[in-house]
Amino acid sequence: MSAASAITLLNKKSAEHIRTAIADYGGQEIVFGVFIEGNTIQDCEIISRGNINMAPSVMQDAVRYHAVMHNHPSGNLSPSDQDCEIAARLADYGAGFFIIDNNAENINVIVPYKKPAEIIPLEAEEIAGYLKKNSSAENIIPGFENRQAQIDMAQSIGKAFNHNAVYLCEAGTGTGKSIAYLIPALLWIKNNHERIIVSTNTINLQEQLLGKDIPTAMALTGIKIKYTMVKGRGNYICLYKADRLKKEGYGTSALFLNPEETGQISRIETMLPDLKTGDKSEVSFLPSPAVWDFFCAEPDICFRARCQFFSLCYYQQARREAFTSDLLIVNHHLLCADAAMKIEGGQTGLLPACRRLIIDEAHNIEETATSYFGKSASRSALQRNLNFIARTGKKSREPASGILKRLLEKTQNRQALRTLIEKFIADFTGKRREFDQTAGDAFDEIYNLIRNGINKNPENGEPGNEIKIRINRQAPDGEKFLQALDIPVKNVGAGLYRLLKQLREILLFLEDEEKASQDLFRDEQFELKCLKMRLEGLQEVIDEIISSENDNNIRWLSARRLNDSRLFVEFNITPVDISEIFKSAVLGKNHTVILTSATLRDHSGFTFIRKRLGINLPYRNVYENAFPSPFDYKKNCRIYIPANIPEPSAAGFTDSAAKYIYQAACYFSGRTFALFTSYAQLLTVKNIISPELEKQGITCLVQGEDNRTRLLETFRSCGKFLLLGTDSFWEGVDVKGERLSCVIIVKLPFRVPTDPVYEARSEYIEKAGGNAFMDYALPAAVLKFKQGFGRLIRGKDDRGLFILLDKRVISKRYGACFIKALPEMEQVDENWDI
Ligand code: SF4
Repeated sequence: MSAASAITLLNKKSAEHIRTAIADYGGQEIVFGVFIEGNTIQDCEIISRGNINMAPSVMQDAVRYHAVMHNHPSGNLSPSDQDCEIAARLADYGAGFFIIDNNAENINVIVPYKKPAEIIPLEAEEIAGYLKKNSSAENIIPGFENRQAQIDMAQSIGKAFNHNAVYLCEAGTGTGKSIAYLIPALLWIKNNHERIIVSTNTINLQEQLLGKDIPTAMALTGIKIKYTMVKGRGNYICLYKADRLKKEGYGTSALFLNPEETGQISRIETMLPDLKTGDKSEVSFLPSPAVWDFFCAEPDICFRARCQFFSLCYYQQARREAFTSDLLIVNHHLLCADAAMKIEGGQTGLLPACRRLIIDEAHNIEETATSYFGKSASRSALQRNLNFIARTGKKSREPASGILKRLLEKTQNRQALRTLIEKFIADFTGKRREFDQTAGDAFDEIYNLIRNGINKNPENGEPGNEIKIRINRQAPDGEKFLQALDIPVKNVGAGLYRLLKQLREILLFLEDEEKASQDLFRDEQFELKCLKMRLEGLQEVIDEIISSENDNNIRWLSARRLNDSRLFVEFNITPVDISEIFKSAVLGKNHTVILTSATLRDHSGFTFIRKRLGINLPYRNVYENAFPSPFDYKKNCRIYIPANIPEPSAAGFTDSAAKYIYQAACYFSGRTFALFTSYAQLLTVKNIISPELEKQGITCLVQGEDNRTRLLETFRSCGKFLLLGTDSFWEGVDVKGERLSCVIIVKLPFRVPTDPVYEARSEYIEKAGGNAFMDYALPAAVLKFKQGFGRLIRGKDDRGLFILLDKRVISKRYGACFIKALPEMEQVDENWDI
């Protein structure tokens, strides 16, 4: 313990302040944020009263202070486990951690505060110099144009780096936003030797950054950096798993694979010696999820340095690359998974420590964060993890594959031990069989309850259609639904409880046996422990789904019938508000956070995104700016809103919409996107118009009938195509030139009001005195609407017609918010010339 006298570490004023604050709080724990100069605490402020375990608020405030300090009322200044964990996490971003006694006389410095190296700020002139007229950009960027908005944006990002700011930056289509943030990012890396992470939502943008924009930014600035795309573990082949598969085969798992899948396993095995990165994309075909499951690295079951393949491990190689890179490209999923892991107490996340973050396509970050900061338990997750332990054949008492089988094989020459293990295994597999039966029946019952009991729409039973339902006591029939769920959910939980009990007994036995067996079962023991923890996590969700009354969580179920007629059922627990978590896990962890996108502002500015992400940070520099698109929409784009079409809820709307879509497709000889909010409506329209369109030589490309990339490739090729798409076609789709001349939005993209997360969040806003429609539904719809519109004009010479079939933009008061969000352009009647 490095206790120090308060005379050297605390100035008089701070010591007095701390003593008084603790005394006023009855001698209980208080967490302080402190400011240090030289070797002395010059000033301190109270972060929270109460236990240090209130980690979120500590982490959230940490960047504001040089160190965090709290008192141990007992006078024993040794750190608890919790202290050590928080200290490690604070150290991650340069803050110190101290423990003090109630009299402010002794301090234990658990992690010292390290004064950061002097920052070399970025110069606005230098940034502009790389992008203006007569710069090297004219030779490096084909078709370079001097764009003032791009220069302004790059300079403002430089300012955000200099001032440790959170910066919301909307950049209209065509601004050249990636180059605008990469130039200051590269200069910052060169000046300050700090790593930067760029997070994106789509693979398209990641590929564009890696293949084009980063090399261009390096050529422009002459700064060579090391950059890497980082993927989650599940993307890499685990050599340990592959080796095990080779040695053991796939046992009864083969029963669940079709001949094509068994062929895929052999093909991957043949490729293995030649793989360089072990990344899924290196496999020359797309393996089925069941096949990839045999090979992929697991998030938690990894032997790390103890693994016999450690030095060859693909994931570890990728991780080493990441740790030695200046610029990391990740996706929002990985960014949120890393943040969630650090929140849960992991001292090391998936990504190396970093204090400067650029979130591109930031309008999507709340949705991704919502899924990572929540938890779920599905029927298939249970089966998958239990199969890792032991996959049982229909009749045999012995497991045909899995860890238990390996245990048994290791006891070949030790009959007494073998007999004991056989007994454990027989008990476990017996319980597993019981579980499969009862849980299988229970899940079927839950599926039927979801489908029939609440939502009687027969379409819900169609393969692939997902049904979501919220568990809400207050809803009409909510109590009844909960009661109906009670027994089947408890049956799943009880079956799992029995299996976990059995698993714990096996682990206890192995622990004793390990000592005598000199690590004979080391690997199996480790894997079983990890699986036990996973199953305990699932058990927690199953227990909470019917019993929790926590208002901060949304409890909901989702179900769908898979194409092979199996039923997928999932229990979900989602935070009603992620803003506090985002604030502490992302904003609080980084000195600079740039959030950029072509659509961050709704009709009333940045208020919506700021509220959703908790960007109300009185102690931080928070900037916001919008840079307009350089495209001439007035000249190149027109809007048509039919006056005679019924409102979307009125009879005849779908038929009318089909008529306009048909007319547009004929008028533009295909070259049209129609964007829907409902897949059922999309199919209805397709059925109405595609036979007639075929006669005109125009083909309907329908989302879901092929994968997105192939549909887009076909659309871009020569030919007459009308593309009908829902959700994923509203954004991230880039068809330049006249191949896309018309975009039709069929309905304003309001979210489905019965969606559990949406519904619960709306109620939450109302309870807090807000207006769910104005504060949530409307701005979210406006942002999505802007995204949809943004598909049309992708280059400065692009021309196009935007057709809006939802006349609520005119008939309803709120409609003006959608129109206001669009750039100024001419409204046309029947003349669709562009
Ligand atoms: S280190 Fe982990 S991921 Fe790599 S091969 Fe070993 S177990 Fe698999």
